[in-house]
Amino acid sequence: MFDVIVIGGGIVGASTAYHLVQSGTRTLLIDRHDTGRATDAGAGILSAETYGGESEPWFNLAIHALDYLPDLIEDLETDHDNQTGYDPCGLLLVAASDDEIESFDRAKQHIFRRQLQRKNPAPSELYEISPDEACDLMPPLTQVQAAIYSKKAARMDGRLFTASLYHTAVRQGLQVVHENVDRLLLSGDRIEGVNAQGSSYHASNVVIAGGAWSTTIGDQLGVQIPVEPQRGQIIHLEHDQQDTGHWPIVEAFHDHYAVPWPDQRVVVGATRETGSGFDPYPTASGIHETLGEALRVTPGLKSFRIREIRVGLRPFTIDYLPVLGTIPGCEGVYVATGHGASGLQLGPYSGKLIADQITGNNIPLDMNLYSIARFAAVRPLHPSSM
Ligand SMILES: Cc1cc2nc3c(=O)[nH]c(=O)nc-3n(C[C@H](O)[C@H](O)[C@H](O)COP(=O)(O)OP(=O)(O)OC[C@H]3O[C@@H](n4cnc5c(N)ncnc54)[C@H](O)[C@@H]3O)c2cc1C
Repeated sequence: MFDVIVIGGGIVGASTAYHLVQSGTRTLLIDRHDTGRATDAGAGILSAETYGGESEPWFNLAIHALDYLPDLIEDLETDHDNQTGYDPCGLLLVAASDDEIESFDRAKQHIFRRQLQRKNPAPSELYEISPDEACDLMPPLTQVQAAIYSKKAARMDGRLFTASLYHTAVRQGLQVVHENVDRLLLSGDRIEGVNAQGSSYHASNVVIAGGAWSTTIGDQLGVQIPVEPQRGQIIHLEHDQQDTGHWPIVEAFHDHYAVPWPDQRVVVGATRETGSGFDPYPTASGIHETLGEALRVTPGLKSFRIREIRVGLRPFTIDYLPVLGTIPGCEGVYVATGHGASGLQLGPYSGKLIADQITGNNIPLDMNLYSIARFAAVRPLHPSSM
């Protein structure tokens, strides 16, 4: 018998399980590690402060998430040999061509208005720079029209970070099973556990953190969890004579980016294929789009070799916000998914929020903003559909 079962072992499920065992909660994590797990493909850009959109609920959550990260990383890295793959490397937000200037100017207004209001980051950490200065920082860059530089932005290796959450949590008592959760076990509208490949596991709470696959579990409850897979194709390039470790991340305004890593590698991506279905394989058009955009913004990468292509299925929601918290009418069932293109940034904190909800700790955010109840299509539980 467990206190909590977490379904799904991507960054969100792993973080939820980690925070639960930290508070002494008996926790079981069940994960089948699908091909196309988003966490394994994620580019790893962490940069709320260069977010040029208008969604305050997203921005607030992202700021809380990034403020929390140093504490979490310190806890994880105190474990011997526990590397999180986190590195503040800086980020350039650029208008690479004329057609991006309007979007750049709009984003610039939001970014600097927030910086002024919050008095953070300091002007020496987030500021506009000249095209030549941008090129000095990132030699493969094209002659851009305009650029903003954030020194605080960071990269994070989703695989390493998630592995680090696992290692620490397992050492502290987390149990892990690599199976498929077939269905939930219910008594009336109360959760009693799950059935996974013929075995029953009992717990008084269950967290659905199944990424893009979470809908299947929701179907069993008669509840529509409003996420869908959005395929992302991303390419790892390498060059054995380039010292890529000091280059900043580059983001432009055609939804693509380049993320340099210390091992002579630059990751370029990514497609955002809403409606892709559960088909986690690269396509000719996806690779064409990704390389075309990479060489438009960073033509200096043209002699790099292709080391690897990764494909992940982002759990996408129509309002770009995650789905976090209880499911009305389903006692003991929580959901933590829908992080779309920002789950590496938000996910570690979302896991803490869900763990805090379950254990009754204070939460500094209005969770209604992220609740499944914001979607009109939530239907009541139908135990007969089990
Ligand atoms: C190409 C790409 C680039 C990205 N770049 C960034 C970025 O730069 N910054 C950023 O913040 N985010 C980025 N993301 C988004 C981020 O990777 C995701 O939002 C995040 O990883 C989602 O994590 P998750 O745990 O919800 O889902 P996943 O990582 O998909 O994990 C879900 C897990 O649940 C398991 N599961 C599902 N159903 C069941 C079941 N019934 N039984 C057992 N197990 C089950 C699956 O097998 C899987 O292991 C990117 C994503 C992609 C694809």
